[in-house]
Amino acid sequence: MNKFKQLGLNDFLVRAVEDLGFETPSEVQQKAIPELLAQDTDMVALAQTGTGKTAAFGFPMIQKVDVNNRDTQGLILSPTRELCLQITNELQLYSKYVKGLNVVAVYGGASITEQARQIKRGAQIIVATPGRMKDIINRNMVDISTVEYCVLDEADEMLNMGFYEDITSILSHTPHEKHTWLFSATMPKEVASIAKEFMKTPLEITVGVKNSGSDKVQHEYYVVGGRDRYAALKRLADTNPDIFSVVFCRTKRDTQKIAEKLIEDGYNAGALHGDLSQNQRDMVMKAFRTQQIQMLVATDVAARGIDVDDITHVIHYQLPDEIETYTHRSGRTGRAGKSGTSMVIITKSETRKIHAIERIINQKFDARKIPNAEEICEIQLYHLASKIKNTKVNDEVEAFLPAVNDVLEGIDREELIKKLVSVEFSRFANYYKNASDDLNAGGDSSSRSDNGSGSAVRYFINVGARDGYDWKVLKDFLKEQLGLDRDDIFKVEVKDSFSFFNSEAVHTDLILSTFSEFKLDGRFINVEVSKNTRGKSDRGDFGNRKRKRSGNDNWSKKSFGSKGNQNKKGKKSKGKKRF
Ligand code: ADP
Ligand code: MG
Repeated sequence: MNKFKQLGLNDFLVRAVEDLGFETPSEVQQKAIPELLAQDTDMVALAQTGTGKTAAFGFPMIQKVDVNNRDTQGLILSPTRELCLQITNELQLYSKYVKGLNVVAVYGGASITEQARQIKRGAQIIVATPGRMKDIINRNMVDISTVEYCVLDEADEMLNMGFYEDITSILSHTPHEKHTWLFSATMPKEVASIAKEFMKTPLEITVGVKNSGSDKVQHEYYVVGGRDRYAALKRLADTNPDIFSVVFCRTKRDTQKIAEKLIEDGYNAGALHGDLSQNQRDMVMKAFRTQQIQMLVATDVAARGIDVDDITHVIHYQLPDEIETYTHRSGRTGRAGKSGTSMVIITKSETRKIHAIERIINQKFDARKIPNAEEICEIQLYHLASKIKNTKVNDEVEAFLPAVNDVLEGIDREELIKKLVSVEFSRFANYYKNASDDLNAGGDSSSRSDNGSGSAVRYFINVGARDGYDWKVLKDFLKEQLGLDRDDIFKVEVKDSFSFFNSEAVHTDLILSTFSEFKLDGRFINVEVSKNTRGKSDRGDFGNRKRKRSGNDNWSKKSFGSKGNQNKKGKKSKGKKRF
């Protein structure tokens, strides 16, 4: 039987679930849906962003409202216009087979009379931001005296944003007998007091650890000199060529400035902050959603509505003023069952804050080094090579090939590859040749992640994101194959078609022997010692040093030549979604 049907959803909703491709209910859905369906109760649910809260309250609400009655029976309050529109949109998808159900969104920045008109036509469910909801109530354009179910979504955010008064005022217009379902990622005092004030013996549901971040997120910090923040940011981007990220800054000015600099330096970046018009913000968000923007530089306030699933990295260009905000920032990645990375750029004096955050999120940070020029160039080279390998041949080049062949005559394959790669690569090499090599400040910071011994070896492995790996999956895979502990594999960095990881030198034989002639799904998985052992390179000889790594030739032949080494899976798994 369908797992959502088991929770008690009716056939109309189960059909919609199937259309959406949801296979398994998320934890908060498993806990909340049966309870909310089976009884009329108040509920407080604590769950991180990206855990599927919308469906956790949306399905029960849709199933419970009476579509033959046009009165407003469900009211959902959410902090921002973006979230409000997203929830409305999700509810419309969930209820696509439920005839006669109207869900209306009520938010600022759009015509209030039009919203009132929609409500008048009969809106069983209203999804609203507190500010606009209060306005529309004050203007007598809505009647919420018939509300039976009220959801406070992202309650902590709403209170952070100063909506306490608006919320209490709105709730005072709803009947005393209604049921309130409060959803929140964290449980600060204000949320607890709202729960106490407005709810009757609520059922409590907690997903994961209270106030903790999602365990799908790997937390890293980088200690740099104050003036090197921007250079460090660029290097983090350059070591992650397929980055899809939100970069958080503290002020609107910094946000705008950093975005402009990134754009000038050739990155696909955009700014999102409160000084932009709604129209500009919509355009930026649209470009971000379609991944035309790879680095969205944002303020905390402006980023509140961001609800994009595939974000690979959250970068804290500066730490937030309030460390609690860190949870919200990092929760932008690691959503919908995927894992992500949260990278913090700090100066030495801020390391204390890292420890404070560790206590809040109940997770350890990994102290990392900003990669040096050689490491970045190595990654860019691999990336370029796999890009060439994976590029679909454009048939239109066919006609010009004879002439092109003439030009390239006499250059052997090896030489040709070198030249080809250099065409693109020189830009990087040149930039980094002139860059100061080591941006890292506060020398002791690497000891923790190297497990204290400093004898770690870095490995290259020829699988990456396009093969369905992320750092977590790869770590588990390696642990399994090698029979090692989770902590024996660290500094896992997954790129598009290859990855790196570290392990102690004592495991080198085990690792190399396990992965010699290792085949998975008919494909060779190849592990080599990466030539970038941290700290050993100096930029003086970069570029003309002979590559010593024996595997290097091997790698280039395999990547360009062998048929057995082709990728099976597509870049993005478009298949079923799974938590
Ligand atoms: P939250 O409100 O907790 O931040 P959302 O409700 O916005 O999370 O859900 C995050 C994403 O996960 C959305 O894209 C949603 O469509 C998707 N999703 C929700 N439930 C499931 C499920 N059971 N299986 C797969 N994907 C889901
Ligand atoms: Mg939500």
